[in-house]
Amino acid sequence: MQRITILGATGSIGVSTLDVLARHPERYSVYALSAHSRVEELAAQCAQFKPARAVVGTAAAAAQLQALLQAQGLRTEVEYGEAALCAIASAAETDTVMAAIVGAAGLAPTLAAARAGKKVLLANKEALVMSGQLFMDAVHESGAVLLPIDSEHNAIFQCLPQHYSRVPGASGVTKILLTASGGPFLKRAVETLDTVTPDEACKHPKWSMGRKISVDSATMMNKGLEVIEAHWLFGASAEQIEVVIHPQSVVHSMVSYNDGSVLAELGNPDMRTPIAHALAYPERIASGVAQLDLAQVGTLQFERPDFVQFPCLALAFDALKAGGTAPALLNAANEVAVAAFLDGRIGFRQIDRVIAKVMDELPHGAAASIAAVMEQDGLARAAAERFIASLRAQ
Ligand code: NDP
Ligand code: MG
Repeated sequence: MQRITILGATGSIGVSTLDVLARHPERYSVYALSAHSRVEELAAQCAQFKPARAVVGTAAAAAQLQALLQAQGLRTEVEYGEAALCAIASAAETDTVMAAIVGAAGLAPTLAAARAGKKVLLANKEALVMSGQLFMDAVHESGAVLLPIDSEHNAIFQCLPQHYSRVPGASGVTKILLTASGGPFLKRAVETLDTVTPDEACKHPKWSMGRKISVDSATMMNKGLEVIEAHWLFGASAEQIEVVIHPQSVVHSMVSYNDGSVLAELGNPDMRTPIAHALAYPERIASGVAQLDLAQVGTLQFERPDFVQFPCLALAFDALKAGGTAPALLNAANEVAVAAFLDGRIGFRQIDRVIAKVMDELPHGAAASIAAVMEQDGLARAAAERFIASLRAQ
């Protein structure tokens, strides 16, 4: 019986994870669940999965959850805050941690799971973007097993010659081909994007996801973050990672080899496939996802990305090449800009301007410690907020 902690249980990935777990009660039990503010959803999950512990964001949310659980006679221990998240991620009673909190908030608990040597199922790409070297060092030192949940990285993992080998030294690997749907605005003229609404940006043509990553998909910053994520997970240089637009989202990514072979992983776009793969690895379990009907898909298209239409992609490649804390600056500025867009404070095309301004303004340094990374994260957030305020004053 594998005992699972889900960080971010109420989100899109969290809910898909619970869906897979519920199909295999003989293999998995839920040790702990976390949410930030969606207390009622978390209470319903506690009623179904009976975790020993549940963590929320604030004391008020904890009191509300406690009352809901008591009314149902549930004995789940309720806690709140970052220290509690780190505790459920590293507790001796859990074997596997699904890291599915969105954004920089996921860094500390994901790192705690890695340091404790857990099997870490990594959805929270921002943690790796911010502190890739430190995170990978923690994984190697503790002997943690890191399995990618992001569909592209999970596909690459499946297509590499020996599971989880690194690109340098892996037999014959020449390139990682990271597929991107291009999001909802792939075929829109750039000039028409000034007036798009948050709901339009979140309407992804192929994947159903949380709002932050949906906006990232529309700007293609999601792909940019994934390029950096692939660099750390697989040890591939920026030159060894190529982004390929593939609007059908059926090929989830590919690995090309020196003999001309290109290996791909295909499937219906549903996150339960990579989640089931990582949960059961190296075995396979049913995920609830329908088998792919290639005749029904009919056509698979591929094209090169347009870096002028999607400046966020270029910014991410620049940050990867700059190294050090540059990706942390990029990530923080992006989080602030996306939140401002979702709140209606800036327009869609101002997102990349905010990020570019922060990257220009702030010097990046060495990502020597988590404290150094978090300091840069804070500076970037403040700079981004200042620039957003100045844009609004214009
Ligand atoms: P959602 O927004 O749907 O869910 C986020 C989860 O994190 C929720 O449980 C939320 O709680 C919790 N949360 C939000 N803010 C905080 C905070 N400050 N502290 C603690 N917990 C918090 O996101 P997704 O599920 O879409 O994405 C989660 C992660 O997985 C992201 O890093 C994303 O990039 C990555 N990912 C997602 C994919 C997808 O298909 N959705 C695909 C690949 C990667 P509450 O519900 O209470 O707000
Ligand atoms: Mg992805």
